[in-house]
Amino acid sequence: MLEMRPGCECCDRDLPPDSPDARICTFECTFCSDCAERRLAGACPNCGGELLTRPRRPADKLAKYPASTVRVVKGEGVGRGEAGVGGRGLRQSPRHEATSGLEC
Ligand SMILES: [Zn+2]
Ligand SMILES: [Zn+2]
Repeated sequence: MLEMRPGCECCDRDLPPDSPDARICTFECTFCSDCAERRLAGACPNCGGELLTRPRRPADKLAKYPASTVRVVKGEGVGRGEAGVGGRGLRQSPRHEATSGLEC
């Protein structure tokens, strides 16, 4: 089951579970459509995989299977299953850096 992460890893924009603008890779790195298309050219910066539209979860299913509330921004939480892939995004950066970064 998808985690349905609540925000873009790049710009921290809110991406609610019913948002049509959420994009995910196979590891569920989550980005908004702007970052995915304009900054990342459709490829995940963490693992290099494709970023595709995240399927929306119907409201009645959300009640039983709630979306994740754990915000992942710029690599926090990356490394569980993706350690060593590309070597990017594994740095532990403080939150305030993430908001200004264009790196991803
Ligand atoms: Zn974004
Ligand atoms: Zn990824």
